[in-house]
Amino acid sequence: MSPAHETAPGGEGKPDQYGLVGHPVAHSWSPFIHGMFAQATAQNLSYRLFDITPQAFRRDILHLFTSGVRGLNVTLPHKQAAADLVNELTPRATRAQAVNTIAFFEDTTLLGDNTDGVGLIFDLEQNVKLTLADTRILILGAGGAVRGVLGPLLERESREVVIANRTAQKAMSLAAEFADLGQISGCGFAQIGKGPFDLIINATSASLRGDLPPLPDGLVCETTVCYDMAYGRAQTPFTAWATGQHAALACKGWGMLVEQAAEAFLLWRGIRPNTRPVLDALAPHL
Ligand code: NDP
Repeated sequence: MSPAHETAPGGEGKPDQYGLVGHPVAHSWSPFIHGMFAQATAQNLSYRLFDITPQAFRRDILHLFTSGVRGLNVTLPHKQAAADLVNELTPRATRAQAVNTIAFFEDTTLLGDNTDGVGLIFDLEQNVKLTLADTRILILGAGGAVRGVLGPLLERESREVVIANRTAQKAMSLAAEFADLGQISGCGFAQIGKGPFDLIINATSASLRGDLPPLPDGLVCETTVCYDMAYGRAQTPFTAWATGQHAALACKGWGMLVEQAAEAFLLWRGIRPNTRPVLDALAPHL
């Protein structure tokens, strides 16, 4: 099994067009996931990958919508640019100021949503079986994905969220933006402070380049869950580090990927597909 570059399940007439925009996108499993969702729910749609550079983003996205595309998922590095481009935002996308799903309606509304947070929470609670209330959470990275997950994590009444980022100022600004929702602070990797944490989420894109953020010792104890938002067949540098630190669990972002996709599908088609068959289909190949 390998990522398909186009999915067109059976059905009457021309399939409705959807896709993923990002740079890069070739590694994406979204066509496979949405293909399974479409088949299971008997929806006549196709799903394609669009590699679009930041310079061409605005022009190319508007062109896709005027040429008939009904909805797009948005991945790095475009989530904030997508929030600026759309003419309406859902409340959770307004909070995040980042968009990972766009729906194009017949009245020409471009609606931006953010399903990353609900996807991550669903995976942590339903699949990983983690209780988030009263936990200390460390988030590595301060990009578009973090914007989407901070609100939902803080709303679960976590005790403390620390954001650590290569560019410390970005982590501090982001923490200030969400400070009304709970105990949150931002810093650079060297200033993370005292561990251990209950949950450490790697939301940097370092794993995509085979890198690990420079992390101090003492962040992990035997009950710590380490979660890399990045996904791939092999261990990532972060999950390898977590295993070396004797974390209770080192997970990759497959569950989040599938759950955020199900929420996007719900926005586009009005049906939330069952994610279990997709997770089961992926499991033997990872
Ligand atoms: P962005 O491009 O918006 O942000 C990237 C972040 O990574 C920034 O904080 C950046 O720091 C940091 N970073 C980049 N390279 C390094 C490095 N070598 N060392 C340390 N930090 C680094 O990306 P997104 O937020 O959209 O995505 C982040 C990751 O999450 C990606 O791996 C993506 O694939 C994954 N993801 C997975 C999802 C899933 O469903 N499983 C959903 C969403 C994202 P700086 O600010 O200093 O540049």
